[in-house]
Amino acid sequence: MNELGMPAPASLHSRGAAQMELHEQAVNLTRKRFGNHVFVRAVVEISNYCRENCSYCGMRRSNRQLKRYRANHEQLAELLLDHCPPSVTDVNIQAGEDPVAVREVAIPLIRSLRQNTSRGVSVCVGLHDKSVYAEMKEAGASIYILKFETANPAHYAQLEAPATFERRIGDIRHLAATGWNVSSGFIAGLPGQTDADLLENFKLANELPLAGVSVSPFIPGDETPLSKAPISDVDLALNCMAALRIMRPDWIIPSVSALNLAEPGSGYRRGLRTGANLVTINMTPSDVRGDYLLYKRDRFIMTEERILTAIAAEGLVPSSRSLAEFYRTGRVNGYDSGEKPAVKRFDVDAVNG
Ligand code: SAM
Repeated sequence: MNELGMPAPASLHSRGAAQMELHEQAVNLTRKRFGNHVFVRAVVEISNYCRENCSYCGMRRSNRQLKRYRANHEQLAELLLDHCPPSVTDVNIQAGEDPVAVREVAIPLIRSLRQNTSRGVSVCVGLHDKSVYAEMKEAGASIYILKFETANPAHYAQLEAPATFERRIGDIRHLAATGWNVSSGFIAGLPGQTDADLLENFKLANELPLAGVSVSPFIPGDETPLSKAPISDVDLALNCMAALRIMRPDWIIPSVSALNLAEPGSGYRRGLRTGANLVTINMTPSDVRGDYLLYKRDRFIMTEERILTAIAAEGLVPSSRSLAEFYRTGRVNGYDSGEKPAVKRFDVDAVNG
């Protein structure tokens, strides 16, 4: 690490004792800041229609093999209001980039959740008009997940990632400046990614007004131009997560389900040993979730049982406070390291430009 907390390439590729030391340092910082509490959210994947054509993603618009669906708002509201596991404190609404789903499913669902529960609401629905962001916020969502995918603009364009790199970064800044808690992130192990690209990801993440960040290992998606590319090394993604935690002990870092595709059976749990403090239960109705194709048709579904078992096995406990509340107060179940909540500082940064 240098004085700004940027990792050295060697640490991102470390193994053995050096890797253990990196991960231990990350976990110790997480415990110091968050105790043994882990946030548990539910995700519902409301639509697999997508107007974008990212070459890494199975939902890309050119994929004609995919049966497209939009979930029904009432069905999802009933599911989330009446059948949400008690450990779930937040709901994440995810979709391909589909303005119809935002209007007809996401916004009514956010309203139902806001009116009937105290759960926090996050959205991960891609790029939209500023008025649409404002409508989602006014409906009651407070966390926006918008990954920058790669900090290399030429690579971003080559991967046909959404709109343009400049637009993606501009919207991340706009969302933060208008009061959203923004989580971003990148894909580790993308075909063509260099060490210099990896380091740029850290630099960009550190510069942006973020409250959280995620790292997904690259999984060659079925029915995509990159389907024959090699899967990311899980250790690279885990080392990136640890280095991000060391760079920014205050961030929310999820253990993503793709870690279990990169290392079946243990990748996800290793994420919890690498500084992650957020896990996600998949509550997408089973009749449609097979068609929410980011990677493989054979999905690894994070059920409540799997999640709670993984948390307990790591000696952790679900946070009883929501992520949304944490962002407002900087406290997890009364556990407060005495540091000011990062997000407050970033609100000021964002407004000051
Ligand atoms: N459409 C929204 C957007 O663009 O933000 C949200 C849904 S998008 C499918 C969610 C995330 O999945 C992307 O931001 C990307 O990081 C990740 N993703 C998609 N395909 C992937 C792959 N093959 N490997 C790893 N991550 C992938």
